[in-house]
Amino acid sequence: MINAPLKALLDHPDVSLTPQSSNWLAVTDAATREPLAWVKTHDATAVNAAIARSVGAQRRWQQQTATARADLLMGWYQRIQQQQEPLAQLLTAEQGKPLAEARGEIGYAASFIRWFAEQARRTDGAILPSPLPQQRLLVLKQPVGVCAAITPWNFPAAMITRKVAPALAAGCSMLVKPAEQTPLTTFALATLAAEAGLPADLLLILCGDAVNVGQALCASDSVRKLSFTGSTEVGRLLMAQCAPTVKKLSLELGGNAPVLVFDDADLEQAVQGIMLSKFRNSGQTCVCANRIYVQSGIYQALSERLAQAIGELQVGDGRQPGVTQGPLIDDTAVAKVQSHIDDACSKGATLRLGGGRDARGGSFFQPTLLTHVTQQMRVAREETFGPLAALFRFESEAEAIAMANDTEFGLAAYLFTQNASRQWRVSEALEYGMVGVNTGQISNEIAPFGGIKHSGLGREGSQAGIDEYLESKYLCMDIS
Ligand code: ADP
Repeated sequence: MINAPLKALLDHPDVSLTPQSSNWLAVTDAATREPLAWVKTHDATAVNAAIARSVGAQRRWQQQTATARADLLMGWYQRIQQQQEPLAQLLTAEQGKPLAEARGEIGYAASFIRWFAEQARRTDGAILPSPLPQQRLLVLKQPVGVCAAITPWNFPAAMITRKVAPALAAGCSMLVKPAEQTPLTTFALATLAAEAGLPADLLLILCGDAVNVGQALCASDSVRKLSFTGSTEVGRLLMAQCAPTVKKLSLELGGNAPVLVFDDADLEQAVQGIMLSKFRNSGQTCVCANRIYVQSGIYQALSERLAQAIGELQVGDGRQPGVTQGPLIDDTAVAKVQSHIDDACSKGATLRLGGGRDARGGSFFQPTLLTHVTQQMRVAREETFGPLAALFRFESEAEAIAMANDTEFGLAAYLFTQNASRQWRVSEALEYGMVGVNTGQISNEIAPFGGIKHSGLGREGSQAGIDEYLESKYLCMDIS
């Protein structure tokens, strides 16, 4: 399970490969459910001690030149690239996604570090034209200070680097609370950061009871920013907990992504886009297609072709060759997908493929296709977070846009059409932070990732991603 290269990556005082006492947390293999390792937990006192160390580390770090910070981040990037294979193995072990996807995630995670290493040297300020002859007006960019991140289990590497890299690039320090299911990848990334020369205490990992760690981080006045990726429910709670200390917030919360397939779409392109967006990570991403709206003229052809593509997916242990669908993260996830299927079927949807647990047991789930889904079913309202493709039928463009926007979420949306005017018109009408046009793959380090409405606040990646960790300080100088 944990071979020699992985042991080296997990060489951290808070990680043990042998069973530990009750204040350590067991991390299990997602496919076999065997224990992989144990991580030390932090209570509120330990969190506060870590915050105090982070304050000192941040003060020293912001004194470094942007070039020095950029060089160090670049060294971290290179080490991750060199260790892509063991990192991917570790990620698949604790998270379950197929090895090919895990390799892709390590590359994606590393890309944020390279991008923000580049951006570290481009946090330019400004000199403004003054309205008064005797005054000169300047804007400086300075780091926000000590920052905290709370991250989910679906992208155990990328959700860490997408927050940590811009924070460090800007001159901030970072305290990370990874998801309890997948903390090992975070430790491995931190080991490589230390090897690259990252100063001690600049990146600290806090495992433990999520409520306690979250409360201690939110209550601290030393922590000036919280970046969270996870459910809307927990995001709301954290937002409220951050109110007393008026913390800066970045929230990347739930989605309920619509896909609009128009009669004039390229059928193959639409099927490929849907497969990518819907079944990546077994449907467990916040930008996964949740509602697939198909115009009546192409409905039959698309459902046939989609059924064929879904039928070719292979469920299994992510380490086995050919597997495209790993296990779901846990039994709660299985229960949610099942409840969406049962609810839809009880209200008149047609089960075309799948529909339940896979014969392998555990949390393996059959890729599922439902047709004749309507807005009255739970899958229309809630994020399924699993391998369920739900097909709705529509007649007109206006109807499709209205149904797509009929949700409190606003993260990602997709549309498939060959008509250029419609591409613009529908993209502009969709109330979402991100829109994929004729593609199901939209995430990268260059573009601003984030949502509107209940899907969150702020953007990650892009220039905006580092701005979230910078304050603007205005200097007004009288030169008379
Ligand atoms: P999911 O349902 O996908 O696990 P969550 O929002 O529950 O999404 O979890 C995302 C992250 O938030 C995880 O690291 C989890 O431990 C953490 N978390 C969950 N509940 C709380 C809480 N009350 N306070 C702080 N962090 C929390």
